[in-house]
Amino acid sequence: MDKILVTGGSGLVGRCFTEDNFHRISSKDGDLTDPKTISSLLEKSDYNGIIHCAARVGGIMGNMNNQGLYFYENIMMNTLLIEEARRRNIEKLILYSSTCVFPDKVEYPLSPEKIHLGPPHESNYGYAYAKRMGIVQTRSYQEQYGLNYFCVIPCNIYGPGDNYNIENGHVIPSLIHKIYVAHRDGKDFTAWGSGNPLREFIFSEDVAQLTKLLYKDYNGSDPVILSTSEEVRIKDLVLAIADHFRFKGKIVFDSSKPDGQFRKPSDNSEIKKMYPNFKFTALEEGLKKSIDWFIENYEKARK
Ligand code: NAP
Ligand code: GDP
Repeated sequence: MDKILVTGGSGLVGRCFTEDNFHRISSKDGDLTDPKTISSLLEKSDYNGIIHCAARVGGIMGNMNNQGLYFYENIMMNTLLIEEARRRNIEKLILYSSTCVFPDKVEYPLSPEKIHLGPPHESNYGYAYAKRMGIVQTRSYQEQYGLNYFCVIPCNIYGPGDNYNIENGHVIPSLIHKIYVAHRDGKDFTAWGSGNPLREFIFSEDVAQLTKLLYKDYNGSDPVILSTSEEVRIKDLVLAIADHFRFKGKIVFDSSKPDGQFRKPSDNSEIKKMYPNFKFTALEEGLKKSIDWFIENYEKARK
């Protein structure tokens, strides 16, 4: 069985690689923006493959307020790790890109051949361009060196162990945290933007499961979209989370806060063709698990 290094092993996705053949590391084991650290992490290893989950990740405000940091740290981690993996003859590497790499203005649905047809949405162009270059780098390495390196492109991921930070987190974990506090304190609660944008969501354990399958089965150079391809309106998401808490207060939408990209409907036909029997976790069930986890782990949760 392959021995596989999982970077970002303490994060939302990385924590789902729990079997014995996965060796999970986090920033506590070393900073992946530093070439010497990467070199020493891989030096004495006998890894056959790498699942590269580590990244500087945030929701809409995290991205808007940290365009330079998110660009720098992500492009450094990806560029350095992929090159070091090549030098050490690691046969397989999967890098997580994101549906935010797609152009803001392009014909829907979003599919891999459209990635470079225009600039990404301005709310996250630093992060998105770094994540686009991961696609360029893995494809180039596959072409020149014959290495089985490729990207997966997940839509918005959520699940237990998420980053529940209110300012910088993604929409689901930050809404869970905000509604939890409002419910506990008997206060009203404010969601951001108009509530009209649409997003697709995938449960973290589904992402890990599909990645494990692709590690085994996929040898192509095109990135593979990981998505349910089901759009949910933010307003409906807010109501669904509020419902889980049986929240009785008032819900206000603050339109001074950004809506971001209006939609990012993605084409998941490749993954559905490969695994026609794969059952995506329903949003309702995934939300319940994410909320229950947050309540049970309130003290230690990232927030
Ligand atoms: P996450 O929960 O924020 O976890 C990030 C992980 O990266 C943590 O383990 C963190 O370690 C590690 N890390 C961050 N900076 C590092 C550094 N400089 N050196 C070493 N390790 C570092 O991220 P995630 O949500 O699981 O995301 C996994 C992948 O999916 C990422 O590539 C992300 O870009 C991509 N993605 C995420 C989403 C989403 O909605 N979450 C959507 C599409 C794509 P510490 O815990 O020690 O800080
Ligand atoms: P994005 O998908 O990259 O834009 O990032 P997010 O996961 O942060 O989702 C942002 C969308 O959710 C935008 O339309 C926001 O206006 C909306 N939203 C509503 N309330 C919140 C909130 O409390 N936190 C976040 N992050 N987004 C929110």
